[in-house]
Amino acid sequence: MKQKYSIFSIVRNAIGYHEGWQEAWRSPDPKAHYDMIIVGAGGHGLGTAYYLAKECGVRNVAVLEKDWLGGGNTGRNTTICRSNYLWDESAALYDHSVDLWHGLSRELNFNVMYSPRGLIHLAHSVHDIQEIGRRGNSNYLNGIDAEYLTPEQVKQWVPFINLNTRYPVMGGLLQRRAGTARHDAVAWGYARGADALGVDIIQNCEVTGFRIEENVVKGVETSRGFIGANKVGCVVAGHCSVLAEKAGFRLPIESFSLQALVSESIKPKIDCVVMSNGIHAYISQSDKGELVIGAGSDPYNSYSQRGGFDLIEETVGAVVELYPIFSRMRMLRQWGGVVDVTVDRSPILSKTPVKNLYFNCGWGTGGFKATPGSAHVFAHSLAGEDMHPVAAPFSIDRFNTGALVDEGAAAAVAH
Ligand SMILES: Cc1cc2nc3c(=O)[nH]c(=O)nc-3n(C[C@H](O)[C@H](O)[C@H](O)COP(=O)(O)OP(=O)(O)OC[C@H]3O[C@@H](n4cnc5c(N)ncnc54)[C@H](O)[C@@H]3O)c2cc1C
Repeated sequence: MKQKYSIFSIVRNAIGYHEGWQEAWRSPDPKAHYDMIIVGAGGHGLGTAYYLAKECGVRNVAVLEKDWLGGGNTGRNTTICRSNYLWDESAALYDHSVDLWHGLSRELNFNVMYSPRGLIHLAHSVHDIQEIGRRGNSNYLNGIDAEYLTPEQVKQWVPFINLNTRYPVMGGLLQRRAGTARHDAVAWGYARGADALGVDIIQNCEVTGFRIEENVVKGVETSRGFIGANKVGCVVAGHCSVLAEKAGFRLPIESFSLQALVSESIKPKIDCVVMSNGIHAYISQSDKGELVIGAGSDPYNSYSQRGGFDLIEETVGAVVELYPIFSRMRMLRQWGGVVDVTVDRSPILSKTPVKNLYFNCGWGTGGFKATPGSAHVFAHSLAGEDMHPVAAPFSIDRFNTGALVDEGAAAAVAH
């Protein structure tokens, strides 16, 4: 039985010099066989295991992670959560997530610091205005909150913004229910919850191949030996094409490094998230006071998790152009993560040509926001015969049929 986190447990453990806290999750050795194996202990993988155990009655589950849990893109993103994508299919998926975000801390008994502080997409051209207008109307029809802002209204939200940049601010699209969450806490909360329900989380266990007999997956080869399973779900973000190749098929995915950086801490200055696709600057402020700044991606494919100075320079230039007030701030850290990008900028939640082998990937530059919803519908898809109706439009078949869910404008450089 996991210790419940509460004011009483804090007081009790303070009296005991904090020596009585249980480990948040176990580190078991792998069993020979599981009902289901999830490959990848990011937020989506851990969340999938959690909902399998919690809602689908499948508790003989292992999550296999080649490094440490939450060390992939889940711990590397800029934490932006929103659901204002263009198409109905995306609205169903991303807004399901927003709904789950609202109760997630309570659900997991772990503070994921979800903060729906409002998010503004800036428009800098006639095209941008048309795009946010179309998307805002589409959001409205799907029951997703969307408000058009004039430049003056943008200024009320962010008084120190420079509206007269090279590409002047001509308006904005506001989603009030959008915001941020603490990315590490999401992985830790799901890990703790899944572990408490009996899921084995096995770190430092790399999946190196699949055992496939008569086109049915029977388990995975790992750095710790073969582990059998009735079903396998791969949730490995930037490395999904590597694993797909090992299973004998190709995914329409390109992987490249996406970067981010944070500044030194300052007093609360900006209480919403502001994104500019045109100038490519998007910022929010963390509870620690750091400006969290999304940078661009490398213009070439790689599996590198490092950043580079060229993108830092470009990004910082864009931030200073929009917010001259930040020009003397020092940057503290920068990093990169390997993102997995599809041609239509929508994810893949799908069965594969190999029976009982599923993939959840292709979230590219913007999958953090979808963590609870994706994990929830993927768990139900794995547990049942058919894909969950919300997941079904994101099958890999769409790249053959042409039924793409084109979120190029809503996703684009942004998150
Ligand atoms: C700089 C940056 C900024 C971003 N900003 C945002 C944002 O603001 N908002 C947003 O919504 N999204 C954002 N994203 C995207 C988001 O982070 C990802 O889409 C999301 O976190 C993916 O989660 P995941 O659980 O699928 O993958 P990950 O967290 O990457 O987890 C996959 C795990 O699989 C493991 N793995 C890989 N191969 C193997 C193997 N062979 N065997 C075992 N384990 C394996 C990895 O080690 C990793 O831990 C950003 C990404 C980056 C890099």
